[in-house]
Amino acid sequence: MANSLSIPTRPLPYGRQHITDADIAAVTAALQSDYLTQGPIVAEFEKQFAAYVGAQYAVAVSNGTAALHLCALALDVQPGQRVITTPLTFAASANCVRYCGGEVHFADIDPATGLIDLAKVRALLETRPKGYFTGLIPVDFAGLAVDLEAARTLADEFGLWVIEDSCHSPGGFFLDSQGREQQCGNGSFADLAIFSFHPVKHIATGEGGMITTNDERLFQRLLRLRTHGITRDPADLLREADGGWYMEMQELGYNYRLADLNCALGLSQLARADQGLARRRQLAARYDDAFAQTPGVTPLAPGRPGHAYHLYVIQIADRKGLYDFLKTRQIFAQVHYIPVHRMPYYEGLGWRAGDFPEAEKYYAHCLSIPLFPTLTDEEQDYVVASINEFSTRIKN
Ligand SMILES: *Cc1c(COP(=O)(O)O)cnc(C)c1O
Repeated sequence: MANSLSIPTRPLPYGRQHITDADIAAVTAALQSDYLTQGPIVAEFEKQFAAYVGAQYAVAVSNGTAALHLCALALDVQPGQRVITTPLTFAASANCVRYCGGEVHFADIDPATGLIDLAKVRALLETRPKGYFTGLIPVDFAGLAVDLEAARTLADEFGLWVIEDSCHSPGGFFLDSQGREQQCGNGSFADLAIFSFHPVKHIATGEGGMITTNDERLFQRLLRLRTHGITRDPADLLREADGGWYMEMQELGYNYRLADLNCALGLSQLARADQGLARRRQLAARYDDAFAQTPGVTPLAPGRPGHAYHLYVIQIADRKGLYDFLKTRQIFAQVHYIPVHRMPYYEGLGWRAGDFPEAEKYYAHCLSIPLFPTLTDEEQDYVVASINEFSTRIKN
């Protein structure tokens, strides 16, 4: 079997960008235009991205972390306020609360999906009086959408806002209680949703991010916070303008803008997003089939409708062994994630090993294997054969 396999001519990381001639032409055109930043391509990218996820408003920002920070600011997170998120995410999902002086709390994951367990969120909420917690940040981990309808019901019962961290799930959806597809980031249930355009994500702009919402007031606030807290909009001015140059800095904001150059790349990538997503799903289905015959290799949440497959995660007893073995084959798997509460910074805030046992158990055995739109069938077969070879060796 292994002999008939062709050995890939390039290293295989867990994720990588796909840049086409059309992308390069789009960026070149932006370079030759009048605006490198603060020009019309930003608004066009926002408009098309909002339409892609089915939201009313979108705000392009410098990266996904800036998107989270602006969301926390727009929702007025104050020092001492308590916000709940999942321990199984990139640290930025939690850090945005800390930027505003808030306290991060965690609810453990459902091991069948890797998503925050809403029953555990409810249990946590019920241990305290209403008003003790102010917000919830669920994450569409690996590309599988959180049931935001259920999250919203819970949030309303306890007076929480909701930020959906959709970095892994552009194009993903969940089925609501009526069986309708609810697109990640469509603003139907969460107050705000955020995306990242880092090159390992579905859509690459170099660095970049997006916030989507259906809330006009939050949208206006985000626009101002993104650019130093400054407004020029005559309708929003607190004082009378004394000339055409007049603008007001009304609150403390940041420079979290995304340049036209980046948005030009984003627009070009967005035009191909559905193709990339279809290929991710096709590759995931091929992995599902292949590993159905591999004892000791357990895919996370296979065959779920609406999965956007940012990551393809397998669970295996000897995770380190497989990681090291794949590296010798030029296959660069990755681990997503070391649980946030186990980071030295968060341990410094009082969290400990054992606090969230499901996330910790998951972490001990998870591995994200190559999944990106340009991965060929042959390259994928090589990944599968390498994993099979490792798992047979272990057994003998
Ligand atoms: C990538 C990512 C972020 C941060 O995005 P950046 O653009 O890298 O700042 C936040 N949350 C999750 C779940 C991510 O995967």
